[in-house]
Amino acid sequence: ISWWTKPARRLLGLRNNDSGQPLVNFLRQPHFVRYLEGNNYTDPLTSHAPHNLEQHLQVQITQFGQNERMVVVRDVTRLHHLEQMRKDFVANVSHELRTPLTVINGYVETLMMSGEIPKPWLKALRQMEQQSKRMDVLIKDLLTLTRLETNSTEGNKSQVQIPQMIERIITNASVLSGDKQQKFIHNIDSQLSLAGEESELESAISNLVYNAVKYTGEGSEIRSNSYRESDQLVIEVCDNGPGIDPMHIPRLTERFYRVDQSRNSATGGTGLGLAIVKHVLIRHNGTLDIKSQPGKGSSLLCRFNLDSSSDSD
Ligand code: ATP
Ligand code: MG
Repeated sequence: ISWWTKPARRLLGLRNNDSGQPLVNFLRQPHFVRYLEGNNYTDPLTSHAPHNLEQHLQVQITQFGQNERMVVVRDVTRLHHLEQMRKDFVANVSHELRTPLTVINGYVETLMMSGEIPKPWLKALRQMEQQSKRMDVLIKDLLTLTRLETNSTEGNKSQVQIPQMIERIITNASVLSGDKQQKFIHNIDSQLSLAGEESELESAISNLVYNAVKYTGEGSEIRSNSYRESDQLVIEVCDNGPGIDPMHIPRLTERFYRVDQSRNSATGGTGLGLAIVKHVLIRHNGTLDIKSQPGKGSSLLCRFNLDSSSDSD
């Protein structure tokens, strides 16, 4: 470090005679050292402050001149707390809603089966049942998202066999497809496997396949391909359905974002599916690539980096 400002001195705990010291003496965390040496500074890095675990710093590096770097450090503690509050809030509310909903569901089911309900009430009861089931799915999705955001992947990792997983997904998807006469085609390298958490990967890929079932019409074709491309494993779900207008594509992985804003029960969803996909991919060192042409169809590609040295800790 050759020069610093007053706030930098405070945030990093520098002293007057620290000039000439390596920056990693102050920001010692392994992930910062990797970031500094990695020479890829497109995204900033968030880390604890060196002398205060309660304080969170965002570090952004810019390279200039002859191997010189400018490091901008921001105190993002407040942002971090707000983010944590949001996560806790969603987790607590979803959790608390489960019990009352189970009670309502139970009574509605009992009433439906009782056989003594006057006809005009039956329609209302059916709708109550449908809507409370939707709420149940929504709460489960919110809890899944919270879990994906807060827990680390370590623990349940195994070598997931891709062909078997995709076959299971297609079996379920064809049940969901019902009498829509949709065609499922798959083309998977038989030896493909990926290190990760099987239930999460299965949930991500099935979200993509179920979307293709839901948003394409009768007789459509739904293809799942998986192959290796240099140091990446690609899983691709394509359809020849109505496609998605380009203006929506950048926002599809936001929570609750839907192209058709009406939340009618014909198309059902709540807009959490692709948010879940995105989080699962982040946790598996992967990215989601959405390509679509209105009127021609959509193709959603999951790319997983197979380079094991970038495994997160
Ligand atoms: P959920 O998955 O939570 O039940 P959802 O399916 O509406 O609800 P997402 O899976 O996040 O939510 O998808 C977001 C939107 O993207 C959908 O509402 C749909 O309009 C659009 N979409 C997704 N996949 C396709 C597809 N294969 N073809 C056309 N539109 C799609
Ligand atoms: Mg969906």
